[in-house]
Amino acid sequence: MREAIKPPSPVASAIASVAGRLSEVGIERPRAEAEALVRAVSGVSRESVLLHPDRRLSADQLSQLEALTARRAAREPLPYLLGEVEFYSLPFRVSPSAIVPRPETEILVEAAIERARAAGARRAIEVGTGCGAIAVALAQHLPQVRVTATDVSFPALLLARENCRRHKVGRRVSLICADLLAGVRGPADCILANLPYVRTDEFEQLEPEVRDFEPRAALDGGADGLGHIRRLCVQVFDHLADGGFAALEVGAGQASEAAKLLGAGRLSRIEVIADHAGIDRVVIGWRRE
Ligand code: GLN
Repeated sequence: MREAIKPPSPVASAIASVAGRLSEVGIERPRAEAEALVRAVSGVSRESVLLHPDRRLSADQLSQLEALTARRAAREPLPYLLGEVEFYSLPFRVSPSAIVPRPETEILVEAAIERARAAGARRAIEVGTGCGAIAVALAQHLPQVRVTATDVSFPALLLARENCRRHKVGRRVSLICADLLAGVRGPADCILANLPYVRTDEFEQLEPEVRDFEPRAALDGGADGLGHIRRLCVQVFDHLADGGFAALEVGAGQASEAAKLLGAGRLSRIEVIADHAGIDRVVIGWRRE
């Protein structure tokens, strides 16, 4: 005798119906996002969703799910709805006070960790820390290093502070409200920056998630996108120890100009590293006397 087909179960059908709504509005991974939203309202783990698909959601959970689904369908970024994102295998709290850490920025962190470790670095500066992801990842992987992280946005620094505490690196990461390196004491063995680099004329073409919900000041790099990077390149030499390096994340097509700017800022041995999509994403220069 054939086993009776089970009727669609509550969690499973909630996921299916949310996924359907998200797919209608063109969200790229509707199923995965629907699962994430259901997990967020029900507080159950990934495994438990799979093992107990017939678990019931309460009326309250269903109405929360309804509200989150409507916001996501209106293109609010998923990490803002969940309040969290993973970066460099660590969970970070995120909010509209800062942009959501991107996977390509892991290339910047990886390259910097490798070089800082080889150079026996003790002091790092991160410029424009946002939610603090780069500074925390650096501090976590380099226990010898003290990090100074700056941002012009005070709300971003409050978020960064939360992330530092969460990962128990608060004592080794100092957060400073500053424009680039203004007022920051050197010398450091490395300076990292993922500054705003989107060209102003590209801004309107960004995905709605980015354009309509992330803080514009953290993305817009002016007419050629390099406005902040250009100002920083003038400052880095004086904040680096001899043998130290500066590592910058840049946008598609900006690496060669950024390399020139680092060179004009008296750094040498310029390196360019591509991301997984083959885009030159990180530019590094060294201070050599
Ligand atoms: N990579 C981001 C984007 O695609 C831009 C990040 C930045 O400006 N630093 O929107």
